[in-house]
Amino acid sequence: MTKQEQFQAALARAAADGCYIIGSGTVRAGEHAGRRCWSVSGKSGHPYLVVQVADRQLQCSCKSRVFCKHEALAFTRIQEESTAAVAKVEQDRRYFRDLQWSEMWAGR
Ligand SMILES: [Zn+2]
Repeated sequence: MTKQEQFQAALARAAADGCYIIGSGTVRAGEHAGRRCWSVSGKSGHPYLVVQVADRQLQCSCKSRVFCKHEALAFTRIQEESTAAVAKVEQDRRYFRDLQWSEMWAGR
């Protein structure tokens, strides 16, 4: 399987098992403090798993040696957040580029 196929298979497993992103944040303390992280629901008996970004790679607390479904979900979320952030910056850039000084006091 190619890496792309492994990723798609992991996403399919996540969907089949009903896994979802519970939340996201930053590791607060310990040797991994400052890393971005996501909590992902797991199977029964595993309330949730934590996926962290370390050196541009994802690490999951499930310790899977293949691209796991939790990492696949986190990666999808990262892509969505990045796309939304870029769109917001572009929207702001256009708004402020077109803003005229005269408009700022138009109502006064
Ligand atoms: Zn995992």
